[in-house]
Amino acid sequence: MKNSPRIGELAGVGPKSAPLFAALGIATASDLLEYLPFRYDDLRFPTKSSALGTYPGEENAVGRVTHVKERRVRGLEIVEVRLRDEAGEFIAKWIGRNRYVVGRFKEGMRLFVRGRVERTLAGPAINVSHYAQLGPDESYRGEMVPIYRASKDLTTRKIASVVEKNLPALLELAGDDPVPPAIAKARGFAPLREAYAHVHLPRDPEQAQAARERFIFGEFLVLASAAALRRMQREGEHDASALQIPPALLAEFEGALPFPPTGAQRRVIEEIWRDMSRDIPMNRLLQGDVGSGKTLVAAAAIVLAARNGVQSALMAPTEILATQHAQKLAPLLVPFGITLEAVFGSQSARSRAGALDRLASGEAAVAVGTHALLTEGVDFARLGLAIIDEQHRFGVEQRARLRAKGGSPHTLHMTATPIPRTLAQSVYADLDLSIIDELPPGRTPIETFAVRTSRLDEVYAFVEANLARGYQAYIVAPAIDEESELTSVVAEAERLKAEIFADRRVGLLHGRLSGREKDEVMGRFARGELDVLVATTVIEVGVDVPNASVMVVLDAHRYGLAQLHQLRGRVGRGAAKSFCVLVYPDDTGETQRLGILTESNDGFRIAEEDLHLRGAGEFAGTQQSGAADLWIADLVRDIDVYAQAKAAAEQILARDPRLERPEHAGLRAQLASGRSTMALVLSS
Ligand code: ADP
Ligand code: MG
Repeated sequence: MKNSPRIGELAGVGPKSAPLFAALGIATASDLLEYLPFRYDDLRFPTKSSALGTYPGEENAVGRVTHVKERRVRGLEIVEVRLRDEAGEFIAKWIGRNRYVVGRFKEGMRLFVRGRVERTLAGPAINVSHYAQLGPDESYRGEMVPIYRASKDLTTRKIASVVEKNLPALLELAGDDPVPPAIAKARGFAPLREAYAHVHLPRDPEQAQAARERFIFGEFLVLASAAALRRMQREGEHDASALQIPPALLAEFEGALPFPPTGAQRRVIEEIWRDMSRDIPMNRLLQGDVGSGKTLVAAAAIVLAARNGVQSALMAPTEILATQHAQKLAPLLVPFGITLEAVFGSQSARSRAGALDRLASGEAAVAVGTHALLTEGVDFARLGLAIIDEQHRFGVEQRARLRAKGGSPHTLHMTATPIPRTLAQSVYADLDLSIIDELPPGRTPIETFAVRTSRLDEVYAFVEANLARGYQAYIVAPAIDEESELTSVVAEAERLKAEIFADRRVGLLHGRLSGREKDEVMGRFARGELDVLVATTVIEVGVDVPNASVMVVLDAHRYGLAQLHQLRGRVGRGAAKSFCVLVYPDDTGETQRLGILTESNDGFRIAEEDLHLRGAGEFAGTQQSGAADLWIADLVRDIDVYAQAKAAAEQILARDPRLERPEHAGLRAQLASGRSTMALVLSS
């Protein structure tokens, strides 16, 4: 890419506005070129006054001023202008904002106005969002106005005017075109520079849309190529241990279980074992709702590894989780004579040293631990399997460090945050996917209610009734301190201790406590030494306290559905009938959205709904993965385009795996530039 001038060197950008551009991430002229509008106001066609108000969005009108009325109501300036066109009369209203319109309009002036239309007794009234004065004889010539993501001090209007003033110079800076010419031609794409001109200053919506499609496709092509290259590299090395699957092993494993595996567990075990029997390192994501029985699947993978004389390491994000894994895994592994070592930060030096010796000598077949597993000094005799639980809680680099402890081990990532398959295949482009889509039999579903805040007393009475039966409860709220209107866990815990649950043992857990303090509180709750745990979503990650039977979520309107489902999964883990109460403020119309949770316990269905309500950028589990960094494409909205780009990427790489042909130079350059690091994050 050419050297780009700083933004301050452009016409219309001064020393005052340059930092405002920089604050939006626009430091250079080419950043500005790539800063695409996210929508347009179509000012091309005025509607006749007689037809105004038939369309739900904003409308345009042109007329001559016949009357001006200005008044002040409770401190708000209201300017009302009556206009006439050839079909009749209408009103244009400016309310509150736009002080500068006061005194500006005179009878006889010609105006263009745009805004949402209300039908009133006095005729159609436009709440003006955009206007322009026209000369007495000026014929109206509307345009497509690009709307950019703006800030308080830098308006979209200002951004648009700088783009327009500098457009020819900006177009000169257009970078490498990732779309090879033949594909661009086949898809009917305009040349890159033209597409930039069209996306910033379109003649009509069709032109804008066609240009956007080009950029979306290009972005996905880079992403999909990066993932495909990564997969090719992984599959090309053939350096993993190809494990032998003894014919009777599955039957033997199942025979040692306290219960038969579900069909889904068995299918997933077979998928994992098949991967592990190849010399290509497995890179598989195991998705399964809370309680779907992922531990058993992990155990099956460990058993196969151990049978082949290679070690396994399981890493979990917290000590409590790691401890629980160790406790749950041990009985599943004992029948196979597999011993397990724990590696935690808080472990005594002595027990740590013993564990490390046995892992280094190969005497111990399995290590279960936290990030502590990544530290230097943790060595394996022959690590062949790395299992990463709640994989999105770890960074790419941490996951890579665990794998590095063993050359090219097979890797199994596990998550309880279901992501719809289509999205997962693109977000985690280089991961194969296994899904446990069936819960073990005999679960009583968690009963879920959505309740208004005004009935909080009743909710707490319900909690008390469950405590009286010997069960425990979680109460989750979004804020730590009282700096917002949201419920704070610190304040609510105080209030509950003093008033509502004065006779109960109430604990407090939030993200500002140290890791050790968190483990301490969580441990007390797990041992039944606390009755109520007031917490932020730090408890979201799968801690298992079977005696907890109620989950109350305050300000439930602040959470995504998938996250609420995840929180709900903290209860219903024992024999007790369990409940989840979602409390939302009386003035938010949340019943419909939360209704999805009261009706369904199906994590995948909930994830699907959540995705459509929130979009991929905000989707739980994808933030950390970097999906939100996509530039103009949207994985949910544009998923079909992604599929096409992925197919194109695979074709390109099949013919030209090193992207050496001249027509692939643009794609290669884009992959080498910073943008593709995003793709790598997504695919690892
Ligand atoms: P996850 O880690 O997926 O949330 P777990 O592996 O902790 O779920 O399993 C949840 C519970 O279900 C555990 O108590 C486990 O013993 C039990 N379980 C797992 N698989 C089965 C099965 N096939 N039949 C009956 N119970 C099962
Ligand atoms: Mg689990």
